[in-house]
Amino acid sequence: MTTEQVAASINPWTVAQRQFDLAADRLNLDPGLRRVLREPRRELTVHFPVKMDDGSVQVFTGYRVQHNVGRGPAKGGIRYHQDVTLDDVKALAMWMTWKCAVVGIPFGGGKGGVVVDPKKLSRRELEGLTRRFATEIEVLIGPERDIPAPDVNTNAQVMAWMMDTFSMHQGYTVPGVVTGKPVGLGGSEGRNEATARGTVYCVAEAARHLGLDLRSSRVVIQGFGNAGSIAASLIAREGARVVGVSDSVGGIFAPEGLDIDRVLKWKAEHGTVRGFPGATAISNAQLLELECDVLIPAALENQITTANADRIKARVVAEAANGPTTPDADELLHSRGIFLIPDVLCNAGGVTVSYFEWVQDLNRDHWSEEIVNAKLHEIMVRAFDETVAMAAKEDVNMRTAAYLLAVDRVASATALRGLYP
Ligand code: GLU
Repeated sequence: MTTEQVAASINPWTVAQRQFDLAADRLNLDPGLRRVLREPRRELTVHFPVKMDDGSVQVFTGYRVQHNVGRGPAKGGIRYHQDVTLDDVKALAMWMTWKCAVVGIPFGGGKGGVVVDPKKLSRRELEGLTRRFATEIEVLIGPERDIPAPDVNTNAQVMAWMMDTFSMHQGYTVPGVVTGKPVGLGGSEGRNEATARGTVYCVAEAARHLGLDLRSSRVVIQGFGNAGSIAASLIAREGARVVGVSDSVGGIFAPEGLDIDRVLKWKAEHGTVRGFPGATAISNAQLLELECDVLIPAALENQITTANADRIKARVVAEAANGPTTPDADELLHSRGIFLIPDVLCNAGGVTVSYFEWVQDLNRDHWSEEIVNAKLHEIMVRAFDETVAMAAKEDVNMRTAAYLLAVDRVASATALRGLYP
């Protein structure tokens, strides 16, 4: 099987439950609590109509899942992707629960998705789809209940439409119902860059921990969306050499380093990084196996599996994507001495600044980008240090260490609240 075929054959929900089981075993988690945390709290599937530009009516399928709301409202993004399934959304919602707990913000985990390739919609169709989907999931969302945000193929404009739709139905403006909004509409400074910035903070901490000099390191990034492209810019600004990047079309490689500003311009003009002058075209599978110091998967799930884990040559793998590495691959990387910063830690900068945005919205406040970044840095460094300390204490890999912290926090909160009724 090719790397792509292996990726497609693995169900992220099975992966998420297995990761949880590893931590639950190690924590000796009470069997009742384990049964509770192993399943999502709520799963909503909706089929809804959208009037297309050609006058036809198409029916789309969407999901909103709340995995856990024990430590606060459900929190997590909404993705638009042609291949998204309910199981994907369940996994992504569970990962959000652990992510919020790892960084210690008072949210549970949720996620949403619509089965659609948004690149094939006009702007008017995209707005119509977004407004109707927001309406369909209104039985679940709200600033005290469940707060969506951007994810794969959604952005600040999509969040503005969601906020407006929810607000129209309430009869007043409710900025705190979604995060990742435009700054002029109650969005937070620094939110757009937050996922990437948190990842780069983690990479800097990992470099310090391993005695690696970031300024002379070679970085490879899979995915050139919000997380990948901004991580490329930020890490290049730290002096690292970005030698390879890719998007859904394919990858490019330049051993002497890519000029990221020019790659960004190229992508804006051509819709892909492919064809960038002076770089060699490579496949996404080849990109992952490039010789480098830091590999940042910033695309989709199941990219590092048993099909390629023994050929990963990076010293550090920093998961800006959710679920890019399977549990078997985790073990392989760990046994080969590759230092992996797990998704629930590495990409938690996004939801952390979403939390800041929500706090600012509820207080009708607005913080400077300096304040946002300083608070983000403090939270990311603390979570990183706690995870490293746990990995050393329990002699486990970094993912299991992050899970031990997170699952214990969620389980303790659940136990303290007790069982209703
Ligand atoms: N979609 C992002 C994630 O996977 C952000 C979620 C949020 O800000 O609520 O973490």
